Amino acid sequence: MPLNWSSEIPRDPRGQAFPLRRTPANGKLVAAITCENLIGCDTHFYGGHTIPCERPDCGPCQDGMPFRWHGYVSAIEANTRLHFIFEFTAQAADTFDQYYKAHGTLRGCRFEAYRLHHRPNGRVILHCKPLDQQEVQLPKPPNIPNCMAIIWNLPAEQIDTRQKRNGRPAMTNTHQTLGRFNTPKNLPTKTKGN
Ligand SMILES: [Zn+2]
Repeated sequence: MPLNWSSEIPRDPRGQAFPLRRTPANGKLVAAITCENLIGCDTHFYGGHTIPCERPDCGPCQDGMPFRWHGYVSAIEANTRLHFIFEFTAQAADTFDQYYKAHGTLRGCRFEAYRLHHRPNGRVILHCKPLDQQEVQLPKPPNIPNCMAIIWNLPAEQIDTRQKRNGRPAMTNTHQTLGRFNTPKNLPTKTKGN
């Protein structure tokens, strides 16, 4: 019986899957941000995983579980060229927020992330500086809510394909979880000539 050999590579209909990474307990992560700004939402640590909070209709909330904001950016690792989604806490987000205010974008921000005293739950320390974009070509950023929908295994029909086409991380309101993605309230809106 013939095998189903083909040079067609199977594609996830939801879009390209990006790995999710956090600040390592040991060593440091060195990467450059590819998206314009961070985006985040409330999450629960539930059943051994981080999952999005879906309040007002949220099982973990009804079980009295606390929720916690997590921020996300897309970034490319310096030495492996791996394009990934970086997850960070609200406290670490302040460093990115200050960079955004100073430079008007996070794209091209080279950062080093490590944990204080190299403890697994140690405070995340971020050092940021602009990358020389003449020297390093950054890839187009993915749509972060779509990437997180794949990571969180939300059904494909809840992903806004219009957002996927323009390739920018943006708010999407097609799903109540994704619709809650937001930037922190104190972030300025980007204006021309600023
Ligand atoms: Zn919840």
